[in-house]
Amino acid sequence: MALADNDTVTTIGEGGKRVWLYPKWLRGRMLTRRTVVHWVLLVLLLIGPWIDIGGHPATRIDIPGRRMYFWGATLMATDGAYMLFAAGIIVFSVFFFTALFGRAWCGWSCPQTVFIESLIRPFERLIEGDASARRKLDAGPWTRSKVIKKAIKYAFYLVVAGTIGTTFTAYFLGRGGVIEAQLDPLSHPGGTAVFVGITAALLFDFAYFREQTCLVVCPYGRFQSVLLDADSLAVGYDERRGEPRGKANNPAAGDCVDCKACVRVCPTGIDIRKGNQMECVQCMACIDACDDIMVKLQREPGLIRLDSQRRFAKEDERGFAKRALRPRVIAYGLGLIAVLSILVVAIGVRQPVGLDLHRMSGTPPYAAMGDRRIQNSLELRIQNRRGEARSFTVELVDEDGTELLVPGGELVVEGETTRQFPVFVLRPAALGGGDVLLRVRDDQGFSDEIAIEFLAGSREAGGGQQ
Ligand code: SF4
Ligand code: SF4
Repeated sequence: MALADNDTVTTIGEGGKRVWLYPKWLRGRMLTRRTVVHWVLLVLLLIGPWIDIGGHPATRIDIPGRRMYFWGATLMATDGAYMLFAAGIIVFSVFFFTALFGRAWCGWSCPQTVFIESLIRPFERLIEGDASARRKLDAGPWTRSKVIKKAIKYAFYLVVAGTIGTTFTAYFLGRGGVIEAQLDPLSHPGGTAVFVGITAALLFDFAYFREQTCLVVCPYGRFQSVLLDADSLAVGYDERRGEPRGKANNPAAGDCVDCKACVRVCPTGIDIRKGNQMECVQCMACIDACDDIMVKLQREPGLIRLDSQRRFAKEDERGFAKRALRPRVIAYGLGLIAVLSILVVAIGVRQPVGLDLHRMSGTPPYAAMGDRRIQNSLELRIQNRRGEARSFTVELVDEDGTELLVPGGELVVEGETTRQFPVFVLRPAALGGGDVLLRVRDDQGFSDEIAIEFLAGSREAGGGQQ
């Protein structure tokens, strides 16, 4: 049984064979806007590890150092809660913006689309020519000129893939580490493996896989159907205005002249006139193509446009702002505001110093001393979350016969590091156990108290282990 038109994937032909696409390039207002967005994102993505902000790389995930730098903010391993909220913001943003703007992410921000549409295809066009020239070149014999063109093209793909692979690896190893790894691959075997893996995967994507990544690999295309509704914005064809299709001089025909310009520019090879499809990445190239035709025919642009299904069907004529106020958008929006607010408050009340007091590992919980006192051996962990070094002092809040010994006296912790210091609390055995409260201050106005239970064993026993 033959499949309906919409049940087939354009890039899969007879017997499952790949159909290679040659999308036409057409200048237009959507292309200009999208190219600007793509280049801003490309620059942000690629410069992060190579520039410094506040003495640190703008973006780096320093796994051995257990910290992450993100455009001036430093998150340490103990800041996992912030990362959880940041992940929550990403999830709610995807829900919220997809419900409002459909797959804007796919066509405008996804790295796959950014690389292919703003780096790979423009270079391919530059070397091999427009869509028909490329088709002819691929179908033709392997001449000297074809070999040279293909060699230049693939060499460029390799350079782009290698540059992205290098930058991605630098996100983890830092720029010094990644250069070291490239000069001596065995000095960072993990980093080298990541670099080779990313470069190879990107080269495969640029040279062969392309739109198949969106069609058969990326889960988001499938996931979107549950996030969209009939009021979400999506690229669509105004069937009421366009049908029946016919020649421009046919007064009985609609506005679509069936020129197929919208199909020729589509990077996933679909015909948007068949309705909303999973393959549409909302790049809006078909809007530019159709507007161009409409302008030439002196008809109103917008036969293909970004609009809601309900407005295309003329079931709801309200504007975007009014349609935005619907339960799903309000629920996602409230979720987004909630996690954002929690994150902002949490960062606002974040102390510059983190303290933790625990028993020293490898020592007994308490020890009876010769002078009828009990000693607890503790470790004070100080995390300095600011960039500059701080000097700390520790004292007992209530002396009541208790004595505190801090070897070295002053405790110095370098910026954005965590250090552990041994501290010893001694108490007359007669006082027994109970809470001990320590006050920790630094030379920059920080002061906080931290408590731990003093263990003394049984008073009758007169102490504990010796
Ligand atoms: S149908 Fe239009 S918006 Fe969708 S992928 Fe094709 S050209 Fe882009
Ligand atoms: S570009 Fe416009 S007029 Fe041409 S086929 Fe597509 S929808 Fe019809």
